[in-house]
Amino acid sequence: MAAICAMVLYQSRLDAMARATETSRNLALLAERDIERNFELYALSLQAVVDGVNDPEVMAASPRLRGFALFDRAATATYLGSMLVLDAEGNIVIDSAGDVPRKANFSDREYFKVHRDNPNVGLYVGDPYASRLRDGSPSIPLSRRLSRPDGSFAGVVLIAVQLEYFRKLFAALSLGPHGSVALIGRDGAMIMRQPYDVKVIGRNIRNASTFKRFLSAPEGSFSDVSVLDGIKRLYYFKNLPNLPLIIMVAEAHSDIYAAWEHRALTIASLMAALALGFIGLSIAFGMQLRRRMRAESELAMLARTDGLTGLNNRRTLGEILDEEWRRAKRNRSVFSLLFVDIDRFKVYNDTYGHQAGDDALAAVAKCIGEHLRRPADSAARYGGEEFIVVLPDTSPEGAASIAEEIRTAISDLAIEHAGSEYGRVTASIGAAAWTPERDVDVSAVIRAADEALYNAKATGRNKVAVSMPQPA
Ligand code: GH3
Ligand code: MG
Ligand code: MG
Repeated sequence: MAAICAMVLYQSRLDAMARATETSRNLALLAERDIERNFELYALSLQAVVDGVNDPEVMAASPRLRGFALFDRAATATYLGSMLVLDAEGNIVIDSAGDVPRKANFSDREYFKVHRDNPNVGLYVGDPYASRLRDGSPSIPLSRRLSRPDGSFAGVVLIAVQLEYFRKLFAALSLGPHGSVALIGRDGAMIMRQPYDVKVIGRNIRNASTFKRFLSAPEGSFSDVSVLDGIKRLYYFKNLPNLPLIIMVAEAHSDIYAAWEHRALTIASLMAALALGFIGLSIAFGMQLRRRMRAESELAMLARTDGLTGLNNRRTLGEILDEEWRRAKRNRSVFSLLFVDIDRFKVYNDTYGHQAGDDALAAVAKCIGEHLRRPADSAARYGGEEFIVVLPDTSPEGAASIAEEIRTAISDLAIEHAGSEYGRVTASIGAAAWTPERDVDVSAVIRAADEALYNAKATGRNKVAVSMPQPA
């Protein structure tokens, strides 16, 4: 379950990343379309001014008419700062703002120097600067060179685009609380960045690792940590095909995975609760099962033993006799059996009471049990004060010797018995040792042992008698 859960969560994490990449690509495409269309219009306006300036008829017209001819309505567009014609010294000669050009010299501007020193530049998009004519309003220049018929430098036509345009454009794009959109010059100059920070505009990020990757392909995406604010983001970048600009859309990893993390946490805690519940139930179930198995084996044990003496009961004895008799038949081994009977026990009961009788019975049973040596040997209560000891694979001599040991041990218990000729509790034992014949039943051996016991009783009690001879 945990593996399936982890797999699903991992998949949905990958999905979140894929969705974010798609979103960034779409946003970048929207911004790109807007910027390219606007810049196309600016470029056309710029070209119109260049063509007009090169037309003697236009230049011969009055400043007002010339203004109409050079600057179409584009010059009044919202984010257009100024449209200017500069002469070869950098002075304003024609100004879209009025018939009388404002007094200023821009020979120190980068775009001016670029056009002056390189005749073949064409449309030039420069780095951001603070406008001197418009109270330092941040702008970027779009410019073209004016050349005389002989090719020498005649001046520059300039359109200043207010950075406010990009700011408004980017502010409208929603990219999560830690997202970022930027327009960067291919030389590394930061033209606009959302979230907006005046200090960042114009800054060159040429040496940032992210910027180096922007230049490595026309477009692409990767994850990196921003040099500006240290936030890890998924970057999508695109080099605009017709402008020396790079558009970058970056969504913060924390934003991309926010919903996923929430979901993962919920699912993981549910899973953990489920797993804990499952483990708890398993433990409870296991405990119950063990308790039951213990109870069952206890019951089984009780069913097999005699309550008073703890020896096997009559039923178990039947099973043991059956099994051992068959084994002895298979192996053709000697099968021995002892029949133990406590002497004058009726008198003992009559003298000392039934409870004392029970205690004596238990003591004798314990004594018998302690004298079994081999694992296969077993003792059972046959009934009343009679016990049977089964001794598989035991010779008559061995059986007789064990019987003697038991007899002695019982006598050595020294349980007082006034009604006995020995003054103590004793037992008589009849032993039988048979090699099983095919058709003979085990009851015959019991009978033989019983007969031997009868002999032991008849010859004075507290004796061992061995059944002789075996049947041929
Ligand atoms: P013998 O020496 O000939 O074996 O004489 P005995 O009195 O031991 O033999 P008998 O078979 O006449 O009597 C057996 C007595 O054992 C009868 C009963 O009083 C006693 N007995 C049998 N089972 C129990 C028992 O579970 N508890 C007690 N206390 N006595 C029992
Ligand atoms: Mg008896
Ligand atoms: Mg008896």
